[in-house]
Amino acid sequence: MANQYKYMLDESQIPTHWYNIAADLPKPPPPPLHPGTGQPIGPQDLAPLFPMGVILQEVATDRFVEIPEPVSEAYRQYRPTPLFRAHGLERALQTPAHIYYKYEGATPVGSHKVNSAIAQVYLNKQEGVRRIATETGAGQWGSALAYACQMFGIELKVYMVRVSYEQKPYRKALMRVYGAEVVPSPSPDTQSGRRVLAEDPETRGSLGIAISEAVEDAAGREDTKYSLGSVLNHVLLHQTVIGQEAMKQLELAGEAPDVVIGCVGGGSNYAGLAFPFMQGKLRGERGPRFIAAEPASCPSLTKGLYTYDFGDTVGLTPLVRMHTLGHSFVPPGIHAGGLRYHGMAPLMSLLHEEGLVEAVAHPQLRVFDAAVQFARAEGIVPAPESAHAVRSAIDEAIAAREAGERRVILFNLSGHGLLDLGAYEQYFAGELEDYEYPAERIAEALKGLPQVATA
Ligand SMILES: *Cc1c(COP(=O)(O)O)cnc(C)c1O
Repeated sequence: MANQYKYMLDESQIPTHWYNIAADLPKPPPPPLHPGTGQPIGPQDLAPLFPMGVILQEVATDRFVEIPEPVSEAYRQYRPTPLFRAHGLERALQTPAHIYYKYEGATPVGSHKVNSAIAQVYLNKQEGVRRIATETGAGQWGSALAYACQMFGIELKVYMVRVSYEQKPYRKALMRVYGAEVVPSPSPDTQSGRRVLAEDPETRGSLGIAISEAVEDAAGREDTKYSLGSVLNHVLLHQTVIGQEAMKQLELAGEAPDVVIGCVGGGSNYAGLAFPFMQGKLRGERGPRFIAAEPASCPSLTKGLYTYDFGDTVGLTPLVRMHTLGHSFVPPGIHAGGLRYHGMAPLMSLLHEEGLVEAVAHPQLRVFDAAVQFARAEGIVPAPESAHAVRSAIDEAIAAREAGERRVILFNLSGHGLLDLGAYEQYFAGELEDYEYPAERIAEALKGLPQVATA
């Protein structure tokens, strides 16, 4: 077994339930608030945007939520995904650490995002929804949702952040292959988009702006619901198939992790891997360290405030308590488009606040250094987002070497970068920059936080 490279499960070992960490939290998460009244919202307040099946999962308190059979059937096309031992990387680093990665690039669209897209589209279909509106950054969520909408026969409109629309033409094409309509955001199609364009016609856009457009679209049409690819409880819930599989696979390897790592944009792929591993620690047992890796140019966990803020830029969503850089903050145009979000999942924010999850911020060039080193050692080209996790895993492996320690490192390789090769080309041409931590712009955005008493 010593040199085994991958740990595979068969279809019968795909999880039958999602793990709901809400059942095991040290204290209940602060409730979302109505932006007008400042009072906690109820399920009915979300009904214009989401089908009831999604809302019930958002507020679920049961420890396990059963995966509906049509969703399981769709999962069987590509799950379980492999767990790899990174022998090549270990050799390259000459580290005594054992490095494992769960590979979510092995899905039809190349990232973990399909795990939630399939579940959300199914729940919409069950309630007769005909059309969905959504936003996408790098296009990973848009292509995952387009794939799932095609599967269940639902129409899709995607508002794609302009900088990515221009940087990532192939993801746009992929969404169109699956039958979705894609427009650059901000777009002239919504009031929110027109308002932002009027203020700054040259804007690169941001996830926060694109969310405003998609929410407005869904709220304004009877036949349309909104769908979000990260941040919310139900999205994190759906991703827990990743960690549950990884636990079984590490058992096959006869190991337990000392550290569990993932990149964080809105927090879903990392929650998906990490939450199942947190159960013991939440009960007070010993457990691994948890490290969330984010971009230095959009550092919501390491530099944001833990407070109530809007999920979108214009201020249409409920207020949620999370780590935020301020909803009006527009992050620099780094290539990890999926990590350019001003906030962080409320669940991930709470766990960071409670000291369970550590956070580190990496500048873009060190991230690409790690990505190239990983690709040369392991053969898989990481998505720029996932490369933040690779950076942290390599840093941990080097620390283990320096300490002469046999550390077991597990990280999530949330997606492949074969549609991000333009970014790699720029990196080799010396055209990628390290953006300074945009302290002034963040301070400015934090001044615009909504006034809510957070006792
Ligand atoms: C979207 C995306 C992310 C960031 O989103 P999370 O919700 O934090 O997971 C990370 N990696 C990949 C490959 C993505 O597509």
